[in-house]
Amino acid sequence: MTTIDERFAELHPSSMTISQVGGETFPDGVTHDGRRLEPFRVYMDRGLGSRKWDIDGNEYVDYWTGHGSMILGHSHPEVVKAVTEQMAKGTHLSASTELEVKWASLVKQLVPCAEKVRFVASGTEAIMMTFRMARAYTGETKIVRFDKAFHGWADGPFVGAENDNLDNGIPQVERETMVVLPYDIGAVERALDDGDVAAVIFQCNQVVEPSFAEHLRDLTEQKGVLLIFDEVVSGFRWSRGGFQGRFNITPDLCGMAKVLAGGLPGAGVAGRADIIDTIAKDKIYHPGTFNANPLSAAAGSTALSIVAVEPITDIVDANAERLKAGLNDLLTRLEVPGCAYGVSSIVHMRLGVDHECDHEYCSADGGGYAKPVVDLIHRGLINEGVWSRPDTFILSAAHSDADIDRTLEAYEGSLQQARAEGAI
Ligand code: PMP
Repeated sequence: MTTIDERFAELHPSSMTISQVGGETFPDGVTHDGRRLEPFRVYMDRGLGSRKWDIDGNEYVDYWTGHGSMILGHSHPEVVKAVTEQMAKGTHLSASTELEVKWASLVKQLVPCAEKVRFVASGTEAIMMTFRMARAYTGETKIVRFDKAFHGWADGPFVGAENDNLDNGIPQVERETMVVLPYDIGAVERALDDGDVAAVIFQCNQVVEPSFAEHLRDLTEQKGVLLIFDEVVSGFRWSRGGFQGRFNITPDLCGMAKVLAGGLPGAGVAGRADIIDTIAKDKIYHPGTFNANPLSAAAGSTALSIVAVEPITDIVDANAERLKAGLNDLLTRLEVPGCAYGVSSIVHMRLGVDHECDHEYCSADGGGYAKPVVDLIHRGLINEGVWSRPDTFILSAAHSDADIDRTLEAYEGSLQQARAEGAI
């Protein structure tokens, strides 16, 4: 029997070679910590629609989809055309462009809270800017945030993140500006009553019942504190208007990235005009060389104009539902404890825990297979031609029913192989 790891090595000889060079060049061999892969990294060459290909010519159905930015799939022809045309006209014109106005008009049309917009270059920057605006607007310092949510890697927003044990380099004084809480509305109320809170931030793609965000809206309004939504992932995905559009809960400010920029680097802050205008009134100086650069503006405005008129978010949600149902059937059939769960178009896996589950806001906590087992199943899946994070699938509108059927077969193959090796 060929093991998962033997097959992984057989399939990726060129990647194995390059991985050695990359390993000597980059810390842990990667340029994004989430892309670590053992025993070596697989190097990608190109993507089209729902598929991508590595440098050894292996084909994958892709469920990491540009870290969630490629809701239209890879190299969507209209986005490619817009970016290519703009490339020939100039990638940075050191001045305002019509494209940025078009891009922001689409944001205003789609996102309920967006009275005004400011573009930045990454989701991390967008969240940093929401904090600065909230502090400038209210004159208060602290930000309330929830345990294990991710709001980018900047000093303050990273405090309380899932990997926040990796907090070397963050000054204690920065930590003291953050109040990290469980998802408990009573705890939020007590923190707001303690005072000096500028804002509460909520990560909209966390798998938390939306009634929690409704309570946050009521409470922050009542206490005169701003509510920030981190819509970096959920924006233009949970619905055309993001989480806030899907559940009809309007924050004061939101940070957006990913789908916003159509697969190029780009992000933005949107919200109440009087808060965004903390920039205009000279309270905040905000430069940024690549803010609303013409390439990102071309890709972003093209992607949003498609999301605005085509049923993209309905299609991705239906694709996710199909994958989730198929994975749950598979786990039942193979008698593997666990579930596939999640809302909108992101499917999470929880393996190795027997539990009751609504397959949406799964409440099982802890337990499950150890990381090496989850990673082995992940490598098995890569061998079978499916690319995802070890426990998460992010869907695009380019996925077909055939892609999803193929994915289910691949997942079955990987689980069977892991079982044959005695790992599960
Ligand atoms: N917020 C959330 C919810 C995210 O998932 C991310 C990145 N995955 C960020 C903020 C940071 O965005 P970026 O990687 O563009 O800096």
